Amino acid sequence: MALIQRKLWKQVSSEEIKDFVIDEYKKQSENPCPVDKIKKFTDSTRRTSCGECVICREGILQLNVVAEAISEGKGRDGDIEILTEISDDLTIGSCCDYGKEVGKITKEILEKGIEEFEKHIKRKRCDALICKKFFSYYIAPQKCNGCNKCKEECPQKAIAGDKDLIHVINSDICDRCGKCTIICEKTAIQKAGAVVPKLPQEPVPVGTFKAEPQNGGGLMAGRRRRRS
Ligand code: SF4
Ligand code: SF4
Ligand code: SF4
Repeated sequence: MALIQRKLWKQVSSEEIKDFVIDEYKKQSENPCPVDKIKKFTDSTRRTSCGECVICREGILQLNVVAEAISEGKGRDGDIEILTEISDDLTIGSCCDYGKEVGKITKEILEKGIEEFEKHIKRKRCDALICKKFFSYYIAPQKCNGCNKCKEECPQKAIAGDKDLIHVINSDICDRCGKCTIICEKTAIQKAGAVVPKLPQEPVPVGTFKAEPQNGGGLMAGRRRRRS
């Protein structure tokens, strides 16, 4: 694979290389989370680097490893500086425009999303609710009609419920695959960040659950999600 790509890059023009890398970046244009954006952008570009120079081969891989760790809640002080340094090294030291372009684009994403990076690292938060570690799925009790389709769909068997009961997701088992959200016609399955709305602890008959406002806070005045 690497050999085929090496031959390919040597045959194409600098403009074509840039277009290829920019197209990879554009695949992430709708992604609202800069951490996930860099993770996915570097995952795809590391696979198509020809691998001839070390900075491109290892640098893009390291960008991907660090971004992935941040997205999984394992970000550490200094990670932003590491990402910046590797991006600069790629831009300066790559043998062709492939690595240079990856470094340049990564640094742009990083600079525009610096606040989001800091939130992921320091506060363990993803405001866009994209990084799986930082959100959970819950079933809005007022919307669930007890059709049972989500329970049948869930590969982890993380959903409790039966016909005509409000279903409940066990966040400790759920792996955030999102399959249940696609099957639910009532759009009852939603994402929550640090604050989870008040929910039934176990399935109850449809229509019987009443959200009790806490301190006048309404539905979202629920519980803080336990961090695993
Ligand atoms: S920067 Fe180096 S490793 Fe990367 S694609 Fe160009 S020649 Fe290959
Ligand atoms: S969450 Fe949706 S799919 Fe699951 S039982 Fe309720 S309405 Fe049906
Ligand atoms: S997100 Fe996936 S694992 Fe979690 S409850 Fe839905 S289907 Fe099950």
